[in-house]
Formats: sequence, C-alpha cells, structure tokens
Amino acid sequence: MRLEGKNAFITGAAQGIGKSIALGMAKEGANVAIGDVNMESAESAAEEVRSLGVRSLAVKLDVSSQNDVTAAFGTFAGEFDSLDILINNAGITRDTLLLRMKESDWDAVLNINLKGSFLCCKEAVKKMAKQRYGKIISISSVVAFMGNPGQINYSASKAGLIGLTKTIAKEYANRGIRANAIAPGFIQTAMTDILSEEVKTEMQSAIPLHEFGTPEDVTNAAIFLASKESDYITGQVIHVNGGMYM
Ligand code: NAP
Repeated sequence: MRLEGKNAFITGAAQGIGKSIALGMAKEGANVAIGDVNMESAESAAEEVRSLGVRSLAVKLDVSSQNDVTAAFGTFAGEFDSLDILINNAGITRDTLLLRMKESDWDAVLNINLKGSFLCCKEAVKKMAKQRYGKIISISSVVAFMGNPGQINYSASKAGLIGLTKTIAKEYANRGIRANAIAPGFIQTAMTDILSEEVKTEMQSAIPLHEFGTPEDVTNAAIFLASKESDYITGQVIHVNGGMYM
C-alpha cells in the first residue's frame, strides 16, 4: 500500500494507460478521480476503481478548456481534502506529414496534449503549494526524444511536456512539489491499435526487447514516481520503451 490515503487526479483516465494507472494506484490505496471527455467510460472506470475499496469519482473534463479544468478541480476539492498526485495523461494524435498537416490538426494536438497539461498543472500547483506537498507526473512519449515522421504536432507537444515538467520542478521544489515525466514507447492501447500491421511490425523490429509495452508497464513507473520511494527525484524522465530509445 504505497499510496495509502493519497488523493489522485488522473486526466484521460476512462481507458488505456490512464485507466490502468487509476486501477494501479487504487490497488496501492489511493483515492482516484477520473477526468475524461467520455463520461460514460469515465463512470464505468470509477466504478471499477471503487470496487477495489477506495473512493473514486468521474469528472467531466476537456483538458483544453479552462472552464472545464477550473470546474473539474473544484469538484475534486469538494470531494477530497488534499490533492497529492496529478497525472497529466489525456492525449490525442492527429497524424500526417508536415506539408499535409492542417493548422486545425496542429492546434487540436497542442491544445489537448500541452496546453491541457499546463492548465491542469496550474490548478494543481495552487493546491499543492499550500499543502507543501505534491507529485505531478506527465505522460510524454519516446517521440519527444526521437521525432517521428507523420507526428510533428504530437512530437512537439510531448517534447513541450518535458520543458513544462523541468520548469515546474525548479519553480516549486521549495514547496515540496515534485514534477517528473514518463516517456512510453509503443504501448498496446486504442491509440496504437489503429496503426497498420505493417507499421506495427516495423516498430516491433526497432525495439531491442522485441515486444510492445502494456499500460501496466507505464503504471509501474507512475506508482513509483507518486510514492515516497521517489521523493528525491524531480525534473526527470523515466523511459518505458523496451530499449527503443536509450
Ligand atoms: P487512449 O486509449 O486514446 O486514451 C486517452 C484518453 O484520453 C481517452 O479516454 C480519451 O477520450 C481521453 N481524452 C482525449 N481527449 C481528451 C481531452 N481533451 N480531455 C480529457 N480527456 C481526453 O490513449 P493511451 O494510449 O492510453 O494514451 C494515454 C497517454 O499516453 C496519452 O497522452 C498518449 O499520448 C500517451 N502515450 C501513449 C503511447 C502508446 O503507445 N499508447 C505511447 C506514448 C505516450 P476519448 O477516447 O473519448 O477521446
């Protein structure tokens, strides 16, 4: 029970990696709020979390909307006394090559993946700074470090999260806030299921461990970064990628 009594807010946690982190943290004793655009799936994820014996609530949240973020953190504060852990997980892709990419594809990805994390961090830091404690974990990506053809918007947004993480780590270390990032490689979720078999085979051959990762692989790193075991770690990136980037 490494997170006993801690209160966590996870964005985009209705499915995939976010939901896995929610369930993993609940198993370690944390209460978890599931923020997501998809309320039906968010409610069902919250129900699963509650079945593990902790408190959970589903919150309607589009991370790219200031109004939604303010309202969601208000709802969270009404339910939980403290905010100990924020996981910036909500993310989307709109892939195509630079010359074909529409401005709207760029804006959608940057608004959700990067601006959304900025808005959530701002709300979380207000609360965490008063508590003089908090852990912020942002889900970046291996492509932030390697680049990836067809993902100029996504790679830029995920690289931006690294700068955001390091800056929060420096600005709020003296308030007991730790900010770190996880950079997953290829993880089996709905986001990667849509890729063609050809792309998947090509990617698998580029992974030294020759296997795709699972949401649980990312969850293990998130639990470590949220727990006391990582209290002397801030401004860092944990790479969870089977050796794809080193
Ligand atoms: P996923 O299965 O698509 O889950 C993402 C969740 O975020 C979905 O529930 C989605 O809802 C929600 N969401 C989308 N836009 C949102 C918004 N504006 N506000 C709040 N929630 C929103 O993706 P995943 O694979 O679990 O990815 C989770 C995170 O890991 C993302 O940041 C992704 O970039 C990152 N990541 C994934 C991989 C991978 O290989 N899977 C690798 C590296 C990094 P809807 O489904 O209704 O849109």
